[in-house]
Amino acid sequence: MDHKVSYQRPNEQGYYGRFGGAFIPEMLHPNVKELQERYLDIMYDAAFQKEYTELLRDYVGRPTPLYFAKRLSAQYNTNIYLKREDLCHTGAHKVNNTVGQILLAQRLGKKRIIAETGAGQHGVATATVCALKGMECIVYMGEKDIERQAPNVARMKMLGATVIPATSGSKTLKDATNEAIRDWINNPTDTHYIIGSVVGPHPYPDMVARFQSIISEETRWQLKTKTGSELPDYVMACVGGGSNAAGAFYNFLDEPTVKIVAVEAGGMGIESGMSAATTRLGKPGILHGSKSLVMQTEDGQVVEPHSISAGLDYPGIGPLHAHLFDSGRGTFLHATDDEALEAAFQLAKLEGIIPALESSHALSALKQIQFKQNEVVVVCLSGRGDKDLATYMKAMGVHSNEVTG
Ligand SMILES: *Cc1c(COP(=O)(O)O)cnc(C)c1O
Repeated sequence: MDHKVSYQRPNEQGYYGRFGGAFIPEMLHPNVKELQERYLDIMYDAAFQKEYTELLRDYVGRPTPLYFAKRLSAQYNTNIYLKREDLCHTGAHKVNNTVGQILLAQRLGKKRIIAETGAGQHGVATATVCALKGMECIVYMGEKDIERQAPNVARMKMLGATVIPATSGSKTLKDATNEAIRDWINNPTDTHYIIGSVVGPHPYPDMVARFQSIISEETRWQLKTKTGSELPDYVMACVGGGSNAAGAFYNFLDEPTVKIVAVEAGGMGIESGMSAATTRLGKPGILHGSKSLVMQTEDGQVVEPHSISAGLDYPGIGPLHAHLFDSGRGTFLHATDDEALEAAFQLAKLEGIIPALESSHALSALKQIQFKQNEVVVVCLSGRGDKDLATYMKAMGVHSNEVTG
């Protein structure tokens, strides 16, 4: 038997250390059990792999470049490589997962896809692959988020999806998730639920991590070509639920010389009551069907998080990340709203790349680490900043007022 500890994979019950599992209503057991029993056989079937790989290449645009950011590197006196997930079709890493799950849904004989979305990025990535495969697509979205994220709602509709508002509770992501789960209970045989991050009941965290692991699979051979070694000194990524981070870390988790750095959203500051830094503020609890770290009140009510970036505005993290934190394998840092904005403007000016606000959190953490001149640092640039232009323009307005005033 192989007793080597692996950080990549959960056990049979879906546990990473003390986090994970499947905490679901009785009525969902058949759906989740079917997935648990079949996902690996389906994913590693030769025909599946062939179609998945072809779509990643011809539709998503993979491999994404690993770009040596020369001027950014000079700023930090080290060697910084950006993994360009911002160049994926639809503008972020999320499509790696939705392409995989739509192929899985087809092989499970499903006809109907449901998803939940907060900012709409996962909704767009899901609507995209449903159009690609001609499948019915229903996206649940909080009523408040529908108002705040009009461009993504328009995209989903243009792609043929039905967007259903969640009108209960705070009318945001957690209420949309409840609606999606209710839908799945009512449509157990013909519907697949595409979850957008490494969260949810087992096997979702493992399945999504495997679909996203293409990020670090490519990074290894790209680094080999560029630096002579497959292994960097650091891999850094932002964490909302944790899917781009899981993908960027995956093939380095069991390489002890590679330092793993996850960056959470500090919001207005850890102590401000307006934050999404789960490892700093959370306690063990159950959220969206698995045991993880969750931001909650003394009596276990989930706390509304805050981040300037909608993709990091989530009160938990996936169980893989809770375990990386718990075990000390990963270092967890945070960046505030203002620090993320500053990092976004820095990248734009130094490299001519406008990053997503989420990715800017990972970039912002560069200044928190003392790198050596010969070290190699990989930062996962999870998405592009087009969707965040309104926020960036507002920030520029403040800056120019300061100059003229
Ligand atoms: C959704 C999103 C994230 C956060 O989700 P993870 O599952 O933590 O990766 C990060 N970056 C971008 C660009 C996103 O769209």
